[in-house]
Amino acid sequence: MKKVIVLGATGTIGLNTLSVIEHLGSDWQADLITAFSRKTELEQLARQYNARTFTTDSETMLKEIRESDADIVVNGIAGAAGLLPSFETVRCGKRLALANKETIVMAGALLKTEAARSGAEIIPVDSEHAALFELQRTAAPNQIRKLIITASGGAFRDTPLEELTHVTPEQALHHPTWKMGPKITVDSATMANKGLEVIEAVYLFDRRPDEIEVLIHPQSRIHALIQTAEGTFTAQISAPDMRIPIQNALTYPEKAAAPSPDTDLTAEALTFTRPDPRKYPMLPLAFRAAKSGLSAAITYNAANEIAVAAFLGHRLPFLSIARLTEAVLNKPLPPAPASLEEVLTVDACARTAADQLLASKAF
Ligand code: NAD
Ligand code: MG
Repeated sequence: MKKVIVLGATGTIGLNTLSVIEHLGSDWQADLITAFSRKTELEQLARQYNARTFTTDSETMLKEIRESDADIVVNGIAGAAGLLPSFETVRCGKRLALANKETIVMAGALLKTEAARSGAEIIPVDSEHAALFELQRTAAPNQIRKLIITASGGAFRDTPLEELTHVTPEQALHHPTWKMGPKITVDSATMANKGLEVIEAVYLFDRRPDEIEVLIHPQSRIHALIQTAEGTFTAQISAPDMRIPIQNALTYPEKAAAPSPDTDLTAEALTFTRPDPRKYPMLPLAFRAAKSGLSAAITYNAANEIAVAAFLGHRLPFLSIARLTEAVLNKPLPPAPASLEEVLTVDACARTAADQLLASKAF
């Protein structure tokens, strides 16, 4: 029997995880499920999946992770709140099936050091990184020249730049190919999501930022490609369905029967374009942050989180998400943090700076 803890069970990743556990059959059990809000829904899920639950305050969550005899923790928490639960999982030597990309952006290297100490496995669930994780098993690391991740282009892919000034949260939440939580859906529209994923790839796979490339691929069938030394590309193709990378992270290194219908390769042509940096300024900002180092990466994530919350609350125009993030990145940055406590300090400073700029509108 494999027991799984599902953090963020009421979210998109959490619900998909519960559906995968059910699909995998009687050898799999959702042991413990948590969420931050929507308590009634959580209790209903606990009854449906015969799982335990508790009122989430972060201390209880960490204690429950520590004391549970579960084998795997799926972290589907949204935002920086996912960081400490990821560390607790890895410290206990449990497998971390990681959707929460903020964990890697903020503290990827520290987490990997912790995993090396405890023997815990970190398996990416973010679809592009799950694809890269599999693709990289097909070639020696020094033979891989480039890691390419794809982006749908988000809700405004076909909207001209001039029309982005007045777009609303409701419009931004209309994603063309993936069904996801609100924060990541806005991040897809600005491509901050891809920016975070560039940084995630750098830390997760120990690559330089210039070894990572982003292409817009509107059909969301090819999730990532690697290019090897002699120029060959190898791609991973599947339906845009998070149940596939979630299931692979649970069963790794084994494979189980498909959790979702096959994608029809003849349905539409698969195309690629290069993202326009003027339309998606959050992408070049992410590369700049990735090159600059860990404090910039944490600051990029924190400032964007504040900006997106303000946009969703109708307090910030869409195009100002990037302006605010850039203004915070332009402030003097602290030295790279060397501990989890220092990571949290850099994160808190960036949030304060973003809040102050937002209040004063001085950006
Ligand atoms: P979501 O908003 O649908 O769900 C978030 C879940 O986290 C909810 O259950 C919520 O109760 C819980 N949560 C929120 N704040 C919390 C806190 N402070 N403490 C504890 N729990 C908290 O989000 P989502 O779309 O499922 O995304 C979750 C994570 O997975 C994000 O990091 C996102 O970037 C990543 N991710 C999502 C997808 C996707 O398809 N949705 C794909 C790749 C990566
Ligand atoms: Mg992704």
